[in-house]
Amino acid sequence: MKGFILSVKNAKNEDTIVTILSSKSSQSYYRFFGARHSIISLGFLIDFEVEGEDSRFLPRLRRVSHLSFDWLKDNSKILLWHQFITILEPHLRDIEELDEFYFNLLLEASSKWGRQNPKRVAVESYIKLLLFEGRVDFNNECYICQMPLEQFVGLMAGFKMCHPRCIYSPSLLKTSIIELFQTQTTIKLNDKEVDYLFDVILKGI
Ligand SMILES: [Zn+2]
Repeated sequence: MKGFILSVKNAKNEDTIVTILSSKSSQSYYRFFGARHSIISLGFLIDFEVEGEDSRFLPRLRRVSHLSFDWLKDNSKILLWHQFITILEPHLRDIEELDEFYFNLLLEASSKWGRQNPKRVAVESYIKLLLFEGRVDFNNECYICQMPLEQFVGLMAGFKMCHPRCIYSPSLLKTSIIELFQTQTTIKLNDKEVDYLFDVILKGI
């Protein structure tokens, strides 16, 4: 089975509890001496087998191998990947049955991460996730004061549109944000705007 490591927590001795997003679920597993294995790392894509699924204890990871990305030598890209995975983790933690959409979203993002600006990939993935969950709000109303939006907007977590003055935020053209929602691409946005959107993502889902 293949999966992305969403979190690694220390257990007793050098054992670890590893949460993995696969195409079917997000589940926690026990890994003996996981702390000694460098491939048990946040955000890594691994191939693995599971044993002990019927016991009262956590199932155990075995035969773990690393499916590497070509950008893993670039520390700045790894850091951004860690940030992106960290905001997804609480949203996807321990869900027994999960649509394969989430695994495929990370697979697609990881394949683009080396070739494109990772912040753009993250923003586009985040929009796709919100749309998949039906959480993109196209209402022309400020989320804070419920008055009509104007030409410029600011964004809260979940890309909820507000008057910039209501959330003390930088301003973005509303038409650009609507276009981002509709096309799921950041191509019309400049890098400064993408930096701002990435900072909004870091507030969570
Ligand atoms: Zn407002």
